[in-house]
Amino acid sequence: MELTWFGTAGFRIATGKHTILIDPYLSRNEKALPKQSLKPSDIQDGDLIFISHGHFDHIYDVPLIASKTGAKVYCGKDIDDTLTQKGVKREQINGVNSDGEIFDFNGIQAQAFFSKHVQFDWWLIIKTFARVNFRLLRYLPLIRDYPVGKVLSWRFIIEGKVIHHFGSAGSTMDELERLGKQPTDILLVPLQGHTRIAQIAHKYVEALQPKVVIPNHQDNFFPPISTMIDIQPFVERVKQINPNTDIRILEINKTVTF
Ligand SMILES: [Zn+2]
Repeated sequence: MELTWFGTAGFRIATGKHTILIDPYLSRNEKALPKQSLKPSDIQDGDLIFISHGHFDHIYDVPLIASKTGAKVYCGKDIDDTLTQKGVKREQINGVNSDGEIFDFNGIQAQAFFSKHVQFDWWLIIKTFARVNFRLLRYLPLIRDYPVGKVLSWRFIIEGKVIHHFGSAGSTMDELERLGKQPTDILLVPLQGHTRIAQIAHKYVEALQPKVVIPNHQDNFFPPISTMIDIQPFVERVKQINPNTDIRILEINKTVTF
């Protein structure tokens, strides 16, 4: 399979019969780093879209992409409403109703698990407000119009490999221990939303013991709301404590094969 990181928690996985898009968000402002040269209208081939939660940096581009590709969209409760308000056709949307719900497509399995959004800590909130400052009013609609909704993590079985995607790192230990009972080949873990995100993300590695971990969401996708997250403390921790886990740091839009 081919796996491509779009920045934020956005991925494309292309396999024989399907192209999967997960949280495909490509819109950026002019200060974003790394630059995203692709526009949502460049995405032509996603037939299945999976959503982790409703924030703008996860679903903002879904209406345009879904209208172009005709993809089926899979998401948690309340996010279906946001998407239809933003123009996605109701018949393209498939709501997830239960924890562990399984969807089967020609040789691919997607399983949805109820999850939680990371709790922004006070230090991060204060720093963000100081940075955004008077520009807050400009960005309020983006925050107000894209409520979090029901948060999901997605486990895919593709070509015999298990890939687990998280769009936010608020999982409880109980949730992670349950997920860890099944093997994980590739873990996609987001490093965003908390001052101690390196330690938090490391808990995912500890619980799921993946063969490969791909950190994501560390990019400065929407300054001044976002900043670049230093993933080195996470990388060091995994190297020290989980030497059997291979850490793959992807470049934006560069495709890797598994
Ligand atoms: Zn979020």
